[in-house]
This record gives sequence, structure tokens and C-alpha cells, in this order.
Amino acid sequence: MPESGSGVISDTLPRARLIDGRASAARLRAEVARQVAVLAGRHGVTPGLAVILVGDDPASEVYVRNKGRQTLEAGMRSFETRLPASTTQAELLDHVARLNADSAVHGILVQLPLPGQIDELAVIDAIAPHKDVDGFSLVNTGLLAARGAGMIPCTPLGCLLLLQEYLGKLSGQRALIIGRSNIVGKPMLQLLLREHCTVTVAHSRTRDLAGECRRADILVAAIGKPQMIKGDWIRPGATVIDVGINRITVSSPDGPRQRLVGDVDFDAAVRVAGAITPVPGGVGPMTIACLLRNTVTAACAQYQIDASSLID
Ligand code: NAD
Repeated sequence: MPESGSGVISDTLPRARLIDGRASAARLRAEVARQVAVLAGRHGVTPGLAVILVGDDPASEVYVRNKGRQTLEAGMRSFETRLPASTTQAELLDHVARLNADSAVHGILVQLPLPGQIDELAVIDAIAPHKDVDGFSLVNTGLLAARGAGMIPCTPLGCLLLLQEYLGKLSGQRALIIGRSNIVGKPMLQLLLREHCTVTVAHSRTRDLAGECRRADILVAAIGKPQMIKGDWIRPGATVIDVGINRITVSSPDGPRQRLVGDVDFDAAVRVAGAITPVPGGVGPMTIACLLRNTVTAACAQYQIDASSLID
């Protein structure tokens, strides 16, 4: 019998299909690497991704290191700018302007959060829209909302790709997104609307969140509260995408230890849902894979190359 965080669970109860984000991300990275090879061989173009890290936040350090490694593994060029926490807004804008003008750089990402003295939105909007591979700028936000186009933010794009892989067409599905942030909830709303879902967005002021959850065929949780969504809130057979990444302390025979959990109570939800992403190993790995994909898309657009022509 498998062990779960909340005790021993019986194998006789049904379990949801696990949505394996690690495997999907590996396939996507392999596809990106093939496209990069074709771009280089046929067009003499090697996509380049520049990442700017301001300060020394340990979590941001890990993300930036992983992004750099995976960029190189895909055959692309990786540029890293590391600036001290005391960097002024003017200095940072100057770096962004230089990368905007650099023809070897096709994608630019400023690692968030930025130190308090810097206006994040001003910096994001200073990135040339065609190099804004995070898709957070005003231009790309507007393109997604008004035209279903532009550079699409990586985490919601990863969620959409997982949903399409596991469900096929999403048209007519009743979707609930919990969380209305600019980086996950709002772009997820636009993407699911584009796919013809009937979408509800819940947030911290939503009344009867459990009732909203119980109506959803697709539930995307992007809250940042460990295991907040309970198993009996989930509609039987629903597809659950857990974006949350939360570190909690659990007891073990060797004393307290840290563990990563999502926003959904996985051990209970896995008994009710039809399919569910684990944390870790669900949405997380898709985010960087989508960043690589966006960088190839950006490079193709800058040389007027049809990205679909790169796939055999
Ligand atoms: P955020 O703090 O910007 O937004 C959280 C949202 O949750 C808000 O819109 C808020 O209204 C809503 N919320 C808060 N309490 C609520 C409640 N009690 N009921 C209903 N809604 C509530 O967070 P974010 O940046 O969107 O990130 C959300 C989570 O996703 C975090 O755990 C973050 O670490 C994770 N995340 C993961 C990835 C990834 O690659 N897997 C990427 C981005 C964010």
C-alpha cells in the first residue's frame, strides 16, 4: 500500500490519472531542441535568451541557474546579467535597452521579484514586445486579451498544453481559475476563453469557493496557500491543475523536514479527480520548457521564419 502525507491509503479506491509535467516538459524541450537545430542549419540563426537577475534572492538564483542550463541544453545561447540589490531603476532600464538593441538576443526575461526601489511594471514595459518572452508587458497582455495572440506567459501556457494533452479539445468545458494574478490567473482566463471554455475566476473575495469548485470540469488553482482546496470540493472526474508551490514543514522519524506541496490537498483530491498534476512534477517543469519555446517563437518572428516549418 502506498504511503501518503495524511496516512496510509487503500489501493482499492479509484485514483486520478497523474498528469506528468516532467515527461511533457521533457518532450517539449526535445521538440524545441530539434527546432533550434533546424533554425541553425537551415537559416543560420541561433536563438539567444537573456536573463537579468537583480539582487541575491536564493529562490531566484535557482530559477535563473535552471533557465540558463536548460537554454544551453536546447542548443540556444544564454546570456546572464547579474546586478546588485542596490541597482537603480535607471541602471536596470539601461541594461534592458542594451539587450533590446542586441541582435544576438531574441528573448529577454527580468527575474521577478525586483528590489523595492524599482518599479517592476516600468521595467517589464521597457522590454521590446517582440523580445518579451515572459509575455508580461502591456503590449503582449493586450494582444492576448484582444486577439488571443502575442507572447503568452509561460506558466499559463504550460497549464494549457497539459490540459490539451490530457483532455484534447477544451471547448464547452466549465473551468474555474482560482487566483487573478497578472502572471497566472488573468492570462489563464484569456487562454481558456480562447479555447471556448466557460470560465469563472475566483479570488480572495469570492463567496462560497467550495461551491464554485464543485461546478468545475477544469480547476486551475494558483493561490499560494498550501493544500487549501479540499478533496470534497472537487467535482468527481474533474481535471485539476495545481499551480501552487508551497514549502511546509512536516514531521518525520528524523525530525521536522521541509516538503513542497500545492494549493490542492493532493491525497484527498487524487481520489475524486479524473486527472491531477502533482506538486512537484506537474506545472513547474512546464514553465521553463514554455520559456524556451517562446524564445524560439520570438527568434522566428524576428527573422520572419514560420515556426511551424521547423517541425518535420
Ligand atoms: P499571487 O499572490 O500574485 O496571487 C494569488 C491569488 O490568489 C490572488 O489573486 C488572490 O486573490 C487569490 N487568493 C488568495 N487567497 C485566496 C483565498 N482564500 N481564496 C481564493 N483566492 C485566494 O500569486 P501567483 O503569483 O499567481 O502564484 C500563485 C501560486 O502559484 C504560488 O504558490 C506561486 O508560487 C505559484 N506559481 C507557480 C509557478 C510555476 O511555475 N509552477 C509559476 C508562478 C506561480
